[in-house]
Amino acid sequence: MAVQQSKVSKRKVRIRHAANRYKGVQITLCTTCGEACLPHRVCKKCGNYNGRQVLSVNTDKAE
Ligand SMILES: [Zn+2]
Repeated sequence: MAVQQSKVSKRKVRIRHAANRYKGVQITLCTTCGEACLPHRVCKKCGNYNGRQVLSVNTDKAE
C-alpha cells in the first residue's frame, strides 16, 4: 500500500491556490496603436487583429 509521506498544511495549500487565483480579464495593449484592448479580440480603435487590418474603422470622426 502506498503511504503518504507528509500532509500539506492548510497554509501551504492556500498560498498555492492564491497564486493560481483568477485575476479577472487582463487588459492588453494593441500592437498597432497601443490602445488598451481585450486579448484575442479585434482592437476597437484601429480594427487590427494579429498584425493585420480586419475591420474598417472610421478614424476621421472628430471627437
Ligand atoms: Zn489598435
